[in-house]
Amino acid sequence: MIPALAPPRSVYVHVPFCRHRCGYCDFSLLAGRDDLFERYFLAMACELKRVPLPLALDTLYLGGGTPSHLGPAGLRRLFNLLHGPLVPVGTAEITMEANPSDVTGPLAALAKGFGVTRFSLGAQSLDAATLRSLDRDHSPDDVRQATATLLGAGLSVSVDLLIAAPGQSLAAVEQDLEAVIALGVQHVSVYCLTWEKGTQFDALRAQGILSVADESIERAMFEATIDRLEAAGFEHYEVSNFARPGFRCRHNEAYWDCRPWEAFGPGAARYDGRERITNHRSTTGWMTRVLEGQDFTGDRDAMTPEEAARERVVVGLRRRDGLDREEFRAASGLALDTIAGAAIVAWVADGLATDDGQRVRLTREGLLLSDALWQRVLTGRG
Ligand code: SF4
Repeated sequence: MIPALAPPRSVYVHVPFCRHRCGYCDFSLLAGRDDLFERYFLAMACELKRVPLPLALDTLYLGGGTPSHLGPAGLRRLFNLLHGPLVPVGTAEITMEANPSDVTGPLAALAKGFGVTRFSLGAQSLDAATLRSLDRDHSPDDVRQATATLLGAGLSVSVDLLIAAPGQSLAAVEQDLEAVIALGVQHVSVYCLTWEKGTQFDALRAQGILSVADESIERAMFEATIDRLEAAGFEHYEVSNFARPGFRCRHNEAYWDCRPWEAFGPGAARYDGRERITNHRSTTGWMTRVLEGQDFTGDRDAMTPEEAARERVVVGLRRRDGLDREEFRAASGLALDTIAGAAIVAWVADGLATDDGQRVRLTREGLLLSDALWQRVLTGRG
């Protein structure tokens, strides 16, 4: 039986503005177009009318782009728009992404006043040379100051780190990890740099000016990350995410549980349990369509129950907790072994997963290889 659709209790709001576009970034955003803030607010107010009744929320996530780039006045405006259609419950987790150089005492106080509980800081590195090579516009001291300001205001802090940056050595990653641990933050997300088509970095790579890190070095960097953060008391709870006990990102956990979520803004993707709908990716295109009452949908991805269950395997196994067979059946209406039985047997034989009969988990080797494992499940050869 297919479980009934539940109303979403998580919302993502996309803020598509940055001061500058980093050379590796292909997100939906406009750099240096602060003149469009007002039009964005008008369009956001319009899109929020999609919600017929106020939504009670367990998690709200403001991402981007750089929400902190709106500044205190812009953030006040945005929170006032969200207030009404979105009603975070008393214990809700409200996260806001920020550029370290935007964080000030007044901004932290304002965010806290609007219920923000958690900041996600786009630090990427605490090494000046790595920040330069990543084309970032902040310094290591900006990261330290921002973290101290936010922790001092009683907010929880997550730091994003990028590894395999151009020219970065394993020793530089190890130093970054020590520096991040010394910040005293509650959560760290670590991603390998990806070279997206159409970015400045990709063009420089094609010209031979930048080079991609060797796969074996990238793997050594990721293993060092797991070892060092675990030794410092962080729980490695998802391929790229590490948390001190009690500080997992509840918003991302809703995604990984394939619970329904709502999303607003350009390029924002929402999921009702059966269909993923992505808004028009261009910021100006989304604004024009919303404000002129046109369809602002970019993509629609309707999934059969079996396709949704296959996706549930992939996102579920990226988590260290893995997948519980009973929970999987209750949530998807299908048996895990019908969807991925053959793949699980093969992974266990190859040392990539463990299976105690109830729960299947990837081993460290499986997690390191995980992106290479999914094709078999997603194409129905599980
Ligand atoms: S600050 Fe973040 S979102 Fe903005 S351009 Fe840089 S990487 Fe992209």
